[in-house]
Amino acid sequence: MITGKNCIAGEFSANGEVEFKTINPKLNKENPTTFVEVTKEEIEKAVDAAWDAFKVYRSVPGKQRAAFLNAIADEIQALDQELIDTYTKESGLPEGRAIGERGRTMNQLRSFAKLVETEDWRSNTFDAAEPDRKPMPKEDLRKTMIPLGPVAVFGASNFPLAYSTAGGDTASALAAGCPVIVKSHPMHAGTSELVASAIVKAVEKTGMPKGVFSSINGGIQAGVDLVNHPKVKAVGFTGSITGGRALFDIAAKREEPIPVFAEMGSINPVIITPDAISKRGGEIAKTYAGSITLGTGQFCTNPGLLLTIKNDHTEGFIAELAKETIALDPQCMLHPNIKSGYEKKEADVTSQSGVEVVGKVDADLEPNYAASAVATVSGREFLANPKLHQEVFGPFSLVVQCKDDAELLQIIEGLEGQLTGTLIAEENDTINLIEVVDALQNRVGRIIYNGVPTGVEVCPSMQHGGPYPASTDSRFTAVGVHAINRWVRPVSYQSFPQSLLPEHLKG
Ligand code: NAP
Repeated sequence: MITGKNCIAGEFSANGEVEFKTINPKLNKENPTTFVEVTKEEIEKAVDAAWDAFKVYRSVPGKQRAAFLNAIADEIQALDQELIDTYTKESGLPEGRAIGERGRTMNQLRSFAKLVETEDWRSNTFDAAEPDRKPMPKEDLRKTMIPLGPVAVFGASNFPLAYSTAGGDTASALAAGCPVIVKSHPMHAGTSELVASAIVKAVEKTGMPKGVFSSINGGIQAGVDLVNHPKVKAVGFTGSITGGRALFDIAAKREEPIPVFAEMGSINPVIITPDAISKRGGEIAKTYAGSITLGTGQFCTNPGLLLTIKNDHTEGFIAELAKETIALDPQCMLHPNIKSGYEKKEADVTSQSGVEVVGKVDADLEPNYAASAVATVSGREFLANPKLHQEVFGPFSLVVQCKDDAELLQIIEGLEGQLTGTLIAEENDTINLIEVVDALQNRVGRIIYNGVPTGVEVCPSMQHGGPYPASTDSRFTAVGVHAINRWVRPVSYQSFPQSLLPEHLKG
């Protein structure tokens, strides 16, 4: 049962006075549970408990941490239909998506469990002593990775399970040996509380210290207090550029600055060559209409920018793309605020000089349903106007018609950092694909060839993160097992006796 309380180191408490409710966006009405925002004292208690737990949890053997992560996955499964129903009522997303995302969340937990069963993930390195080396002897040196400390995780609005309470950030931090304090996303506080209760059960079943996990309800101030707390040592965030950047700046201004791994906005450029358009424009239009509208466009990998070089086939292709896009049934957005944000940004982009709306759903929609749209603009106008480079979070894409290869390259080189870049081309394409790939790889974290950017495989070779503002540190990924590297730091042991070395550095 959902209580509306905060989960502070295994205890559910509600000492605050500020209350809120989540919204069912499909029905456009509040859900019944009243949630209570966390107090400063409760935050203090959660962080103190996390700090105490860290002293124990950081040394818990990998096999036991793995058992804990697997137990969380089992307990999430055991929440069964209550979790699925709460998820759909708080997000407007369909049941199939809820079930798929639950599976992804459990798989992530299990893949981190598998990773930490052995100590190989720590990239341990050994340099044997050379006492007779001249002119100076060489010391015995052994390097490993150790956890940073308590991590604050901000739940993502667009992934109520896979990037929220027990999502990728939490799973990777717990795997690394870091306690976690989640600030649940206020749009799906009930989903978050259910998952928090699953984690609490897993803590009890596997004998982990209670402070290893807490989850709080709160607004902006609660997040700021958490990031400012001296015992919090790192932050994981998925959301807007404004939010991620604000938290990054707060963390940098602390007496002891800490890393913020924020995954933020991206327009995910897709370059479609004239050859590809003339040979299979119809097929590309259909595929991209599906990608632009997938999940009502509420994916960080949504293709918001299509780049082409103008020729005789371009206009027909754009008309076809618009026709296919608006032919798809309009879908509900996550929340009234996300819907109004979409409308505002879509209007902001489409009202700019030179932008033509080629197609937009024109029907009486339910309150939180989004009107998908496709617009076009010339390469020259796009280059001249930074407003056209902003993310429109929703089912929208802007098609830029470049006058030639040089203008296309100039646009790619001038783009802000992106999570993904896609190249749709023919094998013997007439444009210089090597130049395009070279320019694109400098701006993105993942390059896709003849595919769509939506759909992020969870596997070790996945890179989900890119140059700023796609993320705050392009050297790390938020998806796949390498995400654990965000929460650890290297430490070298020099000339240590075997008895004082960590178990995995002995020998
Ligand atoms: P958000 O506004 O960035 O909020 C995410 C979390 O950060 C929330 O818990 C929020 O708290 C907190 N937060 C925001 N600004 C903060 C600040 N200045 N200081 C401390 N905490 C702060 O993202 P959202 O609610 O998910 O959606 C808003 C917009 O973000 C969307 O319309 C979309 O444009 C963009 N977005 C992009 C992506 C992407 O993947 N590219 C994903 C999600 C959202 P409160 O809720 O209490 O304010």
